[in-house]
Amino acid sequence: MLVGIDLGTTNSAIAAIIDGEIVVFKSADNREVLPSVIYIDRNDRRLFGHRALSQAHTSPTNIASGFKRHIGEGFEITFEASNLVLNAEECSTEILKQLLARARAQVDNGTEITHAVIGVPAAFNQMQNEATKRAALAAGLRDVKLLQEPIAAAIASEEMSGSTSDAFIVFDLGGGTLDVALVQNLLGSLTVERHEGVNRLGGRDFDRLIVDQVLVPWLLDTFDLPNDFMKLEEYTRLRRVLQPAAEDAKVELAGQEQSGIFVPEDNVRTVDLVQTPIYVDVDLTRERFETLIGPLLDRTVAVCRDLLKSALYEPEDVDRLVFIGGPTRMQFVRDYVSNALGIPAVQEVDPMTAVAIGAAVFGATAAVVDKSSKEAEEERTQADVGVEFQVQEVTGSETARFRLRIKDPKPD
Ligand code: ADP
Ligand code: MG
Repeated sequence: MLVGIDLGTTNSAIAAIIDGEIVVFKSADNREVLPSVIYIDRNDRRLFGHRALSQAHTSPTNIASGFKRHIGEGFEITFEASNLVLNAEECSTEILKQLLARARAQVDNGTEITHAVIGVPAAFNQMQNEATKRAALAAGLRDVKLLQEPIAAAIASEEMSGSTSDAFIVFDLGGGTLDVALVQNLLGSLTVERHEGVNRLGGRDFDRLIVDQVLVPWLLDTFDLPNDFMKLEEYTRLRRVLQPAAEDAKVELAGQEQSGIFVPEDNVRTVDLVQTPIYVDVDLTRERFETLIGPLLDRTVAVCRDLLKSALYEPEDVDRLVFIGGPTRMQFVRDYVSNALGIPAVQEVDPMTAVAIGAAVFGATAAVVDKSSKEAEEERTQADVGVEFQVQEVTGSETARFRLRIKDPKPD
């Protein structure tokens, strides 16, 4: 059996096509995503996903997270209590094993999971791709194909919306990065025309804004604290509880108008300068939150405009915006970007599972060829003369798209 996998920096997911139906494998407690987090205690007992994440503030030195950023590098993570050292590839293997176990628990007994299509960022180089493949083979898979994440998302979008498009922008706002890609569909063959990535522009920056603009001013007003307490060692614990509290509120605001941010004294376990135990109890409205993140969203729109410009596309050349990544679960974010660019959004795709679903669909049909394949490579080298044509050969409509591009002269 074949599965599609999103091995994400923050969250991962696994899906398959079973009897023609899309199945996203859930955890025992009914969650579709598995946080890409590992906790190891001093006796080498391991927790994964949400359970690992819940150890993050009490035991931050025994946690690995965000390791996808380092895959294919020598970078190693030490789990202090156990003194175990894992590199990013080994951490990825651990997460993949968890995902596979989750899928195995839900398919018929005896069905072996041997094949997988795994999403990788369009920006991954060969080292990163190879490391991802090795991680998957080490997790027990026999046949592993990689698929660029924006292509997976575009496939999911076609599958879920039931319509095909000529050109997409895949807007992937994750935990820490924004990745935008222009995906062109030419006769059913999807290619990433161009992509752009921005670090430090993701969900965590939304959390940071809530902390800096809402929680810190409230704490300074309510308690007797030094103005720079966020920089002081003795307030480390307070600082650590603020981010998850802000994140919970943000996620709640995706579904409701107002959220209470509450951290009891027992969790903060810190006193102010006059020995008053510190707690957090602040209301945040969606309206206020939307105002806070406006400037960040403007930056994401600017990145999309740059992407279009560098590809010599006008917004009207793009049929659809496909949103993936946790923060795009907020309708406000989707509407904001879609309106600013004047490109309609695909609404049918769930931003958290699109990559896994698209990878599973790709694996099941294998009808789509991506640019990294040999065939596409040959097509490209045939265009040595310096011009590249893109033409839609068969069309039912009055107009057809025809694109001609002058390529840079070959450096040799
Ligand atoms: P990555 O691609 O880095 O693995 P994800 O796409 O899983 O990241 O996104 C993680 C981010 O999405 C986190 O910052 C998390 O707080 C945020 N997030 C998850 N669900 C929601 C939601 N419903 N509303 C807003 N943000 C969300
Ligand atoms: Mg992602």
